[in-house]
Amino acid sequence: MRGTVLYGPRDIRYEDRETPRIEQPTDAVIRIAATCVCGSDLWPYRGIQPITQPTPMGHEYCGFVEEVGSAVRLVKPEQFVVGSFATSDNTCSVCQYGYQSSCMRREFISRAQAPILRVPLADGTLVPTPGKPADDLVPSLLATSDVLGTGWFAADAANVKPGATVVVVGDGAVGLLAVLSAGQMGAERIIAMSRHDTRTRLAREFGATDIVTERGDEGGQRIMEMTKGVGADSVLECVGSQESILQAIHCTRKGGYTSYVGVPHAVELEGQALFFAHVHLHGGPAPVRRYLPKLIDLVLNRKINPGKVFDLTLPLEKVAEGYRAMDERRTIKALLRP
Ligand SMILES: [Zn+2]
Repeated sequence: MRGTVLYGPRDIRYEDRETPRIEQPTDAVIRIAATCVCGSDLWPYRGIQPITQPTPMGHEYCGFVEEVGSAVRLVKPEQFVVGSFATSDNTCSVCQYGYQSSCMRREFISRAQAPILRVPLADGTLVPTPGKPADDLVPSLLATSDVLGTGWFAADAANVKPGATVVVVGDGAVGLLAVLSAGQMGAERIIAMSRHDTRTRLAREFGATDIVTERGDEGGQRIMEMTKGVGADSVLECVGSQESILQAIHCTRKGGYTSYVGVPHAVELEGQALFFAHVHLHGGPAPVRRYLPKLIDLVLNRKINPGKVFDLTLPLEKVAEGYRAMDERRTIKALLRP
């Protein structure tokens, strides 16, 4: 088998690797139907998050179960399944609180940009679809695996309620799907911060009512003007930079909610500023597993079409081009098919 390996900054190779097989009785091995490049893959790709050795890549996946270990009960060969980037037993106390991405037995998936993938804790991690889904739904099902699940968590963690005024900071695929999620939760006003044409178009299609093109302090001021100096009920931070998280907190009304779902890089919060901000903060690695059944259902019933964030489809062996296109912001998100 061949798979995707990052060797260093901007050095992605699709090369021979050992074919995954069952190692633990709780494992499943799946044949990938589709995988993709994540915004978070760009941090090590750009060398901002250094790697010390050649690193297999990919954590978004859906596909057909090929084989299961002897202890797997709920997942069966030939089923179409979607899983999260974090494995979970879905039974420990942390999972029962709904935070499966911090499961006490969690492992991170990191070899999904390949035709075959081993998934630990298969019963608690994978969600089968009823029957084989139509091929045109595969991109949207893949989106539930991380990027939509993360956008959904951004909206949920920021307490988006019917009638709310929502700001989404970040116009990557997660930010765009956070717009969609806020709309599904009944937000009345959804302000997307973006200055890229294709992205603002998609944001509007997903339910954004307003677009703010200014960034940083200027962007924050614009939001305050639009909300009569009060700030928004819910602000969803989908980037992970110092500038974006400060901006998100500043745009939140007193007593409002700021969520953060972008992996932070070099972010520091100052105590007094946090104290006087008077906001609820909630975020972290999205517990996608909690939302998967609902999100899969919305996709299968064609209520939402999150697969629209994939504006480039490539065969897996062209994975390096997918990284390049996303790095250069020529594409929002690259879908890869074996
Ligand atoms: Zn658990």
